[in-house]
Amino acid sequence: MNEPFVSRSRKRLQIVARDNPSRLKLFEAVYAQRHTRQQAIKANCLDCQGFDSVAVKDCGDRLCPLWKFRPFQRKSL
Ligand code: SF4
Repeated sequence: MNEPFVSRSRKRLQIVARDNPSRLKLFEAVYAQRHTRQQAIKANCLDCQGFDSVAVKDCGDRLCPLWKFRPFQRKSL
């Protein structure tokens, strides 16, 4: 990986570790390119909504290409 990416991802991980430690493993996997598609969507949605899983669940931006696939939605019974 190129140096700017490594440097930026390292800084980003420090912020995640400080502000949202429960999400650190997810973002470590993403930046190490060891993630699944679902993890990528989860990380992107959390990043989009300030790491607020309820805001991701309640996201109303139906124009977002990821909306249908966003995490934390209730499973239909
Ligand atoms: S679905 Fe909603 S929370 Fe996820 S990236 Fe799109 S706008 Fe953000």
